[in-house]
Amino acid sequence: MKASVEQRLAAELEQFRKDGVYKRLNYLDSPQGPRVKMEGRGEVIILSSNNYLGLSSVPEVIAAGKAALDRFGAGTASVRFICGTFTIHRELEQALAELVGTEASLTYVSCWNANEGLCPTILGPEDVVISDELNHASIIDSIRLAKGIVKCQSAVYRHSDMKDLEEKLKAARSARTRLIFTDGVFSMEGDIAKLPDILELAERYDAIVAVDDSHGTGVLGATGRGTAEHYGLLGKVDIITSTLGKALGGAAGGFTASSAALIDYLVQRSRPQLFSNALPCTVAASALESVRYLRKHPELVARLHENARYFREQLTARGFKPLPGDTPIIPVILGETAKAIRMSEMLLDEGVFVTGFGYPVVPQGQARVRCQISAAHTRDDLDQALAAFVKVGKKLGLI
Ligand SMILES: *Cc1c(COP(=O)(O)O)cnc(C)c1O
Repeated sequence: MKASVEQRLAAELEQFRKDGVYKRLNYLDSPQGPRVKMEGRGEVIILSSNNYLGLSSVPEVIAAGKAALDRFGAGTASVRFICGTFTIHRELEQALAELVGTEASLTYVSCWNANEGLCPTILGPEDVVISDELNHASIIDSIRLAKGIVKCQSAVYRHSDMKDLEEKLKAARSARTRLIFTDGVFSMEGDIAKLPDILELAERYDAIVAVDDSHGTGVLGATGRGTAEHYGLLGKVDIITSTLGKALGGAAGGFTASSAALIDYLVQRSRPQLFSNALPCTVAASALESVRYLRKHPELVARLHENARYFREQLTARGFKPLPGDTPIIPVILGETAKAIRMSEMLLDEGVFVTGFGYPVVPQGQARVRCQISAAHTRDDLDQALAAFVKVGKKLGLI
């Protein structure tokens, strides 16, 4: 590497360290469960995994992946339209569409790719995409790409502010297509998009709605079918994108679910689909088994919410002020980034692995530790984590 480049990067890395925002990677040496083996630490309780239902280590999910490895081999060795489409992809895509309540779906190697494959593909210069200000980075980049590549227009509304969304829709009256794009569950706040109001506005202003339900799939609704099920609106959302890397087995992969025509159009035109390898079959099979397992075990979703309710209540009872909400994402706001990172380090010393987030992932002055609860946590896991919070909270003068 050229010395000048190396020096520039080293100086920036030094600044990250000074600012207290440098991220150290922790290496795990066991499956992603409620407790994991962390290199150099031994067993720790995880409070920052997206493994909401504990499916990543369910024997049936692992066995399905192994069987697919034997049946289909290690890789697809191609993109979908050349020779990378396997029967397991069709089975998975049918199951995913059924799960989220649409006609069809299409998988990608990540939800990041699913999002990036959406806006630049279906929009043009006559169209406007209207986005919640707290949307996930992959939605933001999808919109940036679409603006750069197909010159679509864009607008951003204040977080879950329906008046502002309406203003933006009014301003976009003359556009050919108005696309409202929102997270289903906002990952840093743990709050749920106001989907009934969004759909009502979409109806009134002739817009279509896309929901990225990465933190909603497997999590929200009585049977885990997502934000739409939570509100009794299954089948009413035009486009749903989501991940297979969170509740649905946690391996990797993402998908777009919508009408048969829109999905066929993505098969024809979506660039991450045309120019990047298909989802590995073993991953597809584990994800498919995760969907089937979820359909057979809705009690997992109930347990997830029971655990989340308990943890939120108990944090509050101990003097913390977690953000209120109905999801298993439970952020405790601390203010300065360095403080959040410090708290997460102190919690790790107490055997609890929970990540601190600061600027620019969350707004300046709103750094936080973000707890995420799983159906796999036992009461014992949660109580032990709460005891660690109390110990560290007292040391930091938070409670
Ligand atoms: C995690 C997440 C993603 C990224 O999912 P991958 O499948 O890991 O790329 C996209 N959107 C949202 C809202 C997420 O929370």
